[in-house]
Amino acid sequence: MDIQYVDTYELTRAGQEVHGQAPIDQFERLIEDLPEQADTMVSWTVKGEMDSFGQRFLRVHVKAAPMLECQRCMKPFEWPVDSHNRLEVVNSEAALNVDDAADADPDDAIIERILGSQRLDVLALVEDEIILSLPYVPKHDVCTLLSEPLEEEPDGDLARPSPFAVLGQLKKD
Ligand SMILES: [Zn+2]
Repeated sequence: MDIQYVDTYELTRAGQEVHGQAPIDQFERLIEDLPEQADTMVSWTVKGEMDSFGQRFLRVHVKAAPMLECQRCMKPFEWPVDSHNRLEVVNSEAALNVDDAADADPDDAIIERILGSQRLDVLALVEDEIILSLPYVPKHDVCTLLSEPLEEEPDGDLARPSPFAVLGQLKKD
């Protein structure tokens, strides 16, 4: 399914959900400063919502597996992204910049806003979500450059899903 644009009015009014997939190489802004990417897909879901006050929201879920460069050893490694976000859809540029931090619910204090559109570039939205989820200074969790020689993994670790299992899920739907 090749969706590039969505109508935020339609989506939020109807509570619709759209989803899609695209090769990570297609996200040029994302990968311009990254090392060579593996052949992975970015998958996303965007669901419209309207609350009882008529406020409209988009729930965005993005899964991706970009390759980053470890800033210690300069080797590429996979950074799994599984990002959930809720964006408020507003009607005007002015509403984008309203400072309501003072009276906002603490839980919603950092809610992001986007401008409603009949032609919202959903892939750009997805790309932003991935970019925002990248670490400022990418590093291996355990970088071989600094760590001791690898100890034997305790048995308990075998229960963890491998990165390849996650990849398999990405490719499935
Ligand atoms: Zn490293």
